[in-house]
Amino acid sequence: MARKRKEESIEKIKLKQPDRSGPTDKTLLELADERNLFAQAERRQNELKSSNDDEDDEDDEEEGRLSPRAERILETLLWTVCLSMLHFTLDTLVHHQSEFVRVDMRNWIADSSRCFPVFSPLVYTLHPHASNPNILPGLPSRYQSILRQIIFFVTSFSGFGRSRPAAPAEPSLAAREVPSGSIIYHCTVPGTVALTFDDGPFKYTSQLLDLLEANGARATFFINGDNWSHEIDNPATGWPDILRRIFNNHQLASHTWSHQDLTLLDLDGQTFQMKQLETAINNVVGRVPTYMRPPYASCQGDCVPNIEGLGYHVVNFDIDTLDWQNKDLAEQMQVSIDNFNSAVDNGGQDSSFLVLSHDVHENTVEVLVPQMLQTIKKNGYRAVTVGECLGDARSNWYRSI
Ligand SMILES: [Zn+2]
Repeated sequence: MARKRKEESIEKIKLKQPDRSGPTDKTLLELADERNLFAQAERRQNELKSSNDDEDDEDDEEEGRLSPRAERILETLLWTVCLSMLHFTLDTLVHHQSEFVRVDMRNWIADSSRCFPVFSPLVYTLHPHASNPNILPGLPSRYQSILRQIIFFVTSFSGFGRSRPAAPAEPSLAAREVPSGSIIYHCTVPGTVALTFDDGPFKYTSQLLDLLEANGARATFFINGDNWSHEIDNPATGWPDILRRIFNNHQLASHTWSHQDLTLLDLDGQTFQMKQLETAINNVVGRVPTYMRPPYASCQGDCVPNIEGLGYHVVNFDIDTLDWQNKDLAEQMQVSIDNFNSAVDNGGQDSSFLVLSHDVHENTVEVLVPQMLQTIKKNGYRAVTVGECLGDARSNWYRSI
């Protein structure tokens, strides 16, 4: 047919109305009617209805059917499981948004299972069921459902709030004794890398925070009050926002007020360097750090006991990226990358590292940090704060003045 058409010239092809001669012009309803399907269905329905009536007359408890109470209990169970799973899913989503590193599945499961004692009695009493059509006798039926929903909402909300135990500040961290009396050079929790950034905040810090958070990494910032930036507690400078972000998502620590060599200062000078920064940090986050790093890694003589007496752990590092020496050219930063990689690539699974770099250099943020994060991930380490890498609970990272 097609071949024949091809041979004809276009003018000779007659236009036709669509072919309606086949059975397709009948609707499904007409076809069903033609085949007597409606009558058959009606007959079958009547048969089933009469057999059901007979069974109902005989016995409600017969084999294969559940008693109304069992049905109600199963229904309660089903709804409670659904609500618990919904809770678990929301918990997962919220943690995924706000927690960068630690995933504590046990807490989520415990939270979700706490839904059971709250939801199951509520569902049992409030879910509409043939045996309790009215929750409040005398109330018009159109209000019964609304009343159930209000009671359910209010009681589940307050009930669940009460059933939640007060969580410790960082339940996932085992409290360990952080050594005192000497400078800390190493992390103690296996499989951790504590990236630390000194001398900020500065104009690259915000970009660095984005990068860390996009990679599920946490870090520690040893900040100055008057070094590369000034007036860090003045909202007009924008620094308070950066400090709060560090405080909330990472670890905020002290690198003294103005980056003096503490070994060269007398005790009063050292104390001034610590206290002056405390005031500024306290103005922003309402707490002061308990971790500090001395500028130039220099804290000799009475320095360590003095600084510890002021309420600080003194922290240095075991990998120095020397980023400040290689900051001027992106290619030169490869030296720092190699410093880091050679240590981390050769560490065993139980190793941990405390790494020094500076967020005041553009190439540190743009070249070095992405590479370090890649190496950390590749070797199966976790990028954590100094507090975490020492197994110290977050509640110990700050104190009040
Ligand atoms: Zn420094």
